[in-house]
Amino acid sequence: AAKSAGRNTHRFYDMAMQVELDARNALEHDLHYALAQDQFELYYQMQVNNATQVIGAEALIRWVHPSHGVVSPLAFIPLAEATGLILPIGQWVLESACVQLHLWAKSARTRHLQLAINVSARQFYQANFVEQVSKTIAKFMIAPERLKFELTESLVLDDIEDTVSKMHALKKIGVRFAMDDFGTGQSSLAYLTQLPLDQLKIDQSFVRNLGVKPTDAIIVQTIIGMANNLGMEVIAEGVETEFQHLFLKQHECDLYQGYLFSKPVTIDTFEACIQSAIG
Ligand code: C2E
Ligand code: MG
Ligand code: MG
Ligand code: MG
Repeated sequence: AAKSAGRNTHRFYDMAMQVELDARNALEHDLHYALAQDQFELYYQMQVNNATQVIGAEALIRWVHPSHGVVSPLAFIPLAEATGLILPIGQWVLESACVQLHLWAKSARTRHLQLAINVSARQFYQANFVEQVSKTIAKFMIAPERLKFELTESLVLDDIEDTVSKMHALKKIGVRFAMDDFGTGQSSLAYLTQLPLDQLKIDQSFVRNLGVKPTDAIIVQTIIGMANNLGMEVIAEGVETEFQHLFLKQHECDLYQGYLFSKPVTIDTFEACIQSAIG
């Protein structure tokens, strides 16, 4: 009896695995097709300064699926990373961001805007990543300092030596770097000073708890103080309420991003916002 129960459990397990594998394979197939059919789109979420002027945006990928509608990156980026599809997708994001910066440079109204893009570990650690970036920047003739790469702590810690040398090579080209989701990773503070970072992004989990969890207020103040002392810019992500905004402002945060100002939106909506803000 024990034997057959074991066998049944085993069979059930196989079936569950098979269902999951089939779903993965189907999604992988769809992602290939999405790339070929140009179904990805960048959404733009504004970033504002202390005068509530829009200084730029973070570009966030969306999969605009013909029948499922707008699909969140959380639903497909992990598989894209696991399969290597993140390489062509990442290059598509980089090119699209450069095209947008090229277009913005043509108008006095938008020429000052910066654009941040997210980079996956697999993409960053490609042997020719620096060359790809420099080629793409040259191809679209953009001012490199308008382009910002968002890296995560886990990416950086994967191979700290390679990260440091790659970041320096990219700094030579003139691009900028932000540390995304700061405070959530295996923060060893020692590495922070080794990296040529321009900006720290306070993770939204701390911002969310302002006024709720006193220790998170202390973490936020500490991150702001650290950024200031290291000569880095500091931006809070996930700002949703006036209370959070005021707290951050009072503690000398530089920049803000969150639903309080705008959700990530299409390029048309983003540009309409810029237009109306200027008047
Ligand atoms: P992230 O880079 O930390 O991006 C911030 C996420 O927080 C975005 O989710 C954004 O929509 C969301 N967010 C912004 N403000 C608020 C707010 O006030 N409240 C709340 N609740 N959420 C807010 P999204 O667009 O779903 O992206 C999720 C993650 O997917 C990103 O986190 C990033 O890690 C990844 N991702 C997005 N686009 C790309 C891409 O082009 N390439 C790569 N490799 N990863 C990407
Ligand atoms: Mg980001
Ligand atoms: Mg983030
Ligand atoms: Mg995040």
